[in-house]
Amino acid sequence: MIIEIIVIRKCFSIAVLYSILLMFLAACSPKNRSIDAQGEFVMGTYCRIDLFEDGSPALYNKLFTRLEELEKIFSANRDDSELAGVNRNAGIEAVEISAELFTVLERALYFAEATDGAFDPTIGPLVKLWGIGTEYARIPPDMEIAAALALVNWKELELTAGIKEDLPIAGTAFLKKKGMALDLGAIAKGYAADDLVSILKEAGIKRAVINLGGNVYVWGKKDNGKPWNVGVQDPAAERGNYLGILELERSISVVSSGMYERFFTGDDGKHYHHILELTENGRGKRGYPAENGILSATVIAVSSMDADALSTSCFVLGYSRGMALALANGAEIVYIEEKEIRGSPGAMSIFTLTSH
Ligand code: FAD
Ligand code: MG
Repeated sequence: MIIEIIVIRKCFSIAVLYSILLMFLAACSPKNRSIDAQGEFVMGTYCRIDLFEDGSPALYNKLFTRLEELEKIFSANRDDSELAGVNRNAGIEAVEISAELFTVLERALYFAEATDGAFDPTIGPLVKLWGIGTEYARIPPDMEIAAALALVNWKELELTAGIKEDLPIAGTAFLKKKGMALDLGAIAKGYAADDLVSILKEAGIKRAVINLGGNVYVWGKKDNGKPWNVGVQDPAAERGNYLGILELERSISVVSSGMYERFFTGDDGKHYHHILELTENGRGKRGYPAENGILSATVIAVSSMDADALSTSCFVLGYSRGMALALANGAEIVYIEEKEIRGSPGAMSIFTLTSH
């Protein structure tokens, strides 16, 4: 069994995707989710959970309900999310936030600092401007990109832990400039996968696979004792075509960031993907999709939140800085580049090329 670690391609219309999934959802909406049904469209992607023999409608319900709760905390695409509340108060005041949002923002700031801002959770204005993955995706004029970039600065996100009127709270978040906006598309799905794994642990689940639109967590051991096989998408091929397989012996997360996941083709015929360049490093233009010869970065780590943030960070940093960052954070990485496939020793020792 090969587990797909790719997001449903956004190159065909979202409407088609929703209609296919709506039919599927009707069959497995919470009230009548049977043991085998493990899929739901949440966090803007198709999320699938396999509990194998331990599956029960109650447990599937608990997991997907938790995903919906987390979407309400982290979504940059909903006005009623906790994150939207922080964005609405940018330049006005600090907002009290939940422990979940505090944890993810704290980790996002760690990676922002570690990458000198190549990874930045305040990228919201630029993501919104491009609209990649939506029906209004377009190539913005340079002037608009410059204006959006002026609002992207992780150093202007003030995170304060602690108490309020002598009561212990998780903390507060404050975006210091009006117009700034958080977007946690590069890290929150990883946090969500870790959160679901903590529910699996509590429930004593022996083995499971969580796949949140390509953010995979394999849990426990396969019943035949063989490794889990996780396919790595061939960036240049149709969905479901793998370039290689990762064989995983233990509970661990595998997350890919790739130029094939969300993109549009501009009037100039160029491919514009959703992983954006934020630092002056002589490659692609700041504020544009990263252009550094990387087609995908696949990170293997015990923390899915780290694997998610690292996959995006290592994509934009390129091979040598990305490799150093992954290894410094106890992760392994496979890079698929225009001309070659290379990665960390620990990753390449479990990676088998299946087509080229
Ligand atoms: P990753 O490589 O992990 O991250 C790419 C995403 O991170 C980009 O889409 C952008 O959001 C952001 N990003 C790009 N460049 C950088 C950078 N340099 N530094 C930091 N971040 C960067 N999509 C929808 O279409 N509709 C929805 O309703 C919706 N709701 C969501 C709710 C939640 C809670 C989350 C986590 C995601 C949601 N999404 C939704 C998807 C989101 O918009 C992203 O496209 C998605 O998370 C990309 O994940 P990835 O693994 O493909 O990309
Ligand atoms: Mg990511």
